[in-house]
Amino acid sequence: MPAKKVGFVSLGCPKALVDSERILTQLRAEGYAISPSYNDADLVVVNTCGFIDSAVEESLDAIGEALAENGKVIVTGCLGAKGDIVKQTHPKVLAVTGPHSADEVMKAVHKHLPHKHNPHVDLVPPQRDIGIKLTPKHYAYLKIAEGCNHRCTFCIIPSMRGDLVSRPIGDVMQEAQNLVKAGVKELLVISQDTSAYGVDVKYRTGFWGGRPIRTRMLELARALGDLGVWIRLHYVYPYPHVDEVIPLMAQNTTEGKILPYLDVPFQHASPRILKLMKRPANAENTLARIKAWRAICPELTIRSTFIAGFPGETEAEFQQLLDFLEEAQLDRVGCFAYSPVEGAAANALPNPVPEDVREERRARFMQTQEKISKARLKQKVGKTLTVLVDSIDNDKAVARSAADAPEIDGTVIITGSAAAKLKPGDFATVKITRAGAHDLHGIIV
Ligand code: SF4
Repeated sequence: MPAKKVGFVSLGCPKALVDSERILTQLRAEGYAISPSYNDADLVVVNTCGFIDSAVEESLDAIGEALAENGKVIVTGCLGAKGDIVKQTHPKVLAVTGPHSADEVMKAVHKHLPHKHNPHVDLVPPQRDIGIKLTPKHYAYLKIAEGCNHRCTFCIIPSMRGDLVSRPIGDVMQEAQNLVKAGVKELLVISQDTSAYGVDVKYRTGFWGGRPIRTRMLELARALGDLGVWIRLHYVYPYPHVDEVIPLMAQNTTEGKILPYLDVPFQHASPRILKLMKRPANAENTLARIKAWRAICPELTIRSTFIAGFPGETEAEFQQLLDFLEEAQLDRVGCFAYSPVEGAAANALPNPVPEDVREERRARFMQTQEKISKARLKQKVGKTLTVLVDSIDNDKAVARSAADAPEIDGTVIITGSAAAKLKPGDFATVKITRAGAHDLHGIIV
């Protein structure tokens, strides 16, 4: 009997992508085939995002499209955890589950698309020890925890994903090692709050490679650094203990084990707004912390995200944010105009900022940052960097340096005759010849 076919639509952030990979791996392990088109599939799973209103809309549209094209649809992901919105908009969906619920999705698939599992005949997933990956073969997201203990007032993730649950460090390391054995060259460590890794289990001691190891960001970063691939840390908050990780990034020390890159979502610079946001580490002196990090690791790239026009933000407080930007000289920055996400506590705060002002502040913020990013990129002209090739585009290779995370940061575009010989996943040494607003250009040396 031919395998039953499941179509899959994966929306949302890297954390949702990891959920998608889990479900796809399980489907394949049970002998379902993955169909690339709606028409050819016997059923479609849509993994949704519900973070901001535009993501909700995109997810609802994707569900509508899958229903129109196929008819049999199971919905999972963050939007599934947001009350009845999916069922109300699309009453014909077969089942709705929240994020991080591969087992429930599989139950719904079994119910609506029963399939007799024959382990002797069914396809085993390729790279069975790591499952199916949705990222290119040479990099992978490594999810170390699920959920979050904070209650930032603009965010509904904790209500969707629950409190922090850290994965056992031995499991995380095993997965990392399997990925490296399968050819992955870069691991991107993700969670809602990477610096809080292990808090829920009181930094309990686990085991890896027969040795005791504590469930803590520092120990994890050090152990990952020993795997010999690029390790990039995302969603790290500026707690004092983060200082201990910076020497692992400094190339001038014997440590130099992980990429000199920190993704720290600062969100604002005004202490009053940070307090209203209930941000973790809101009382820390962030500028002093950044200065100290750069003193230990001058090559450190700092990426961050901010919100402009948070309820109650005055022009003076917004100006404080711009001043912070000028002073902090961050390398990579994203900014959202505040968007009142349904269910977020911040919506009830007094003095909401009108939409046009929120947008205008966002634009001003980006203008300020663009100048800073440009100047910082310009400083790299003439330097020699190690880069990892992502793709080949005719006679150019599109690569990334230690300063560039996939999807969110810039790229290094390599030209010249040697570029065409590169393959995705190759490391290359490149001399930077030119800098644009976001990307660098270079030639192989
Ligand atoms: S730290 Fe704040 S923004 Fe991040 S997931 Fe937790 S509550 Fe949401």
